[in-house]
Amino acid sequence: MDLCNMEEIRALLSRHNFHFSKALGQNFLIESWVPQEIADASGAGAGYGVLEIGPGIGPLTVQLAQRADKVASVELDQTLLPILAETLADYDNVAVIPGDVMKLDLSAVVAQQFPGLTPLVCSNLPYNITTPVLTLLLESGLFSAITVMIQKEVAQRICAQPGAGAYGAFSVLCQYYAKTEFLFDVPKECFLPSPKVTSAVIRLTPCPPPECVHNKELFFRVVRGAFGLRRKTLLNALSAAFPLNKEQLRNCIQSAGLSPEIRGERLSILEFALLADEIEKSL
Ligand code: SAM
Repeated sequence: MDLCNMEEIRALLSRHNFHFSKALGQNFLIESWVPQEIADASGAGAGYGVLEIGPGIGPLTVQLAQRADKVASVELDQTLLPILAETLADYDNVAVIPGDVMKLDLSAVVAQQFPGLTPLVCSNLPYNITTPVLTLLLESGLFSAITVMIQKEVAQRICAQPGAGAYGAFSVLCQYYAKTEFLFDVPKECFLPSPKVTSAVIRLTPCPPPECVHNKELFFRVVRGAFGLRRKTLLNALSAAFPLNKEQLRNCIQSAGLSPEIRGERLSILEFALLADEIEKSL
């Protein structure tokens, strides 16, 4: 069965009396080049186990199953399970795991599903959980690459460099844990139903934490503080976030080699790390 053929999809969904859920971010792929290119970009191949979040009716699952040794697909919508049983019937290297990915014990899943394999993530994500799920995946340290389709605007934010309008606390978080790559756009017309926004595929390749960060918790506190009041100078934004007076903070910022008038959105990971070290000395 062609899982990207509109007529076949409509017949399948109506046979199973399936109704799309907006709350579950259900926009299914209907152009076959998209799951093919996402699966190619994921690095799935012999020796790899792929965790997929939200298989839907399985167009990306099938592409991954044709490349990797094992695919484990987590699906929250119970009404999709009988559909997946039908569409994935030919693939004995796929395990569908019913449930909410946010509540899963990811290390247990990896240990059970991918023994002896290198774990990857590849998914057309439900857009409403993009930030928490990517945070969870990155913090888990379990995966050698994470290739996902998300809203283009969020993809740009994740990959943005200091000084760019899209650069924010989530860019720093993702770039702390991984090398980020913006791969390609996917137009709205490639989905059923068509979403309001353009999508994009990104790849996050986890790497060792930056050596310049000595106190991770404080580093992220500084990052969140700096972006908390976005249009304020670094000095004003940090005064709202730390129990230090302006003079102390001004000294910290200057000792880190920065101007107190600079805005947080111009700082690189190294500069945030230097600033966190100075703030730690004053706390
Ligand atoms: N992979 C399919 C495709 O590309 O056509 C469907 C992608 S659709 C954007 C997102 C899928 O994630 C849906 O099947 C939805 O039911 C599922 N989903 C939503 N929230 C989820 C969660 N918390 N855990 C697991 N799956 C979820």
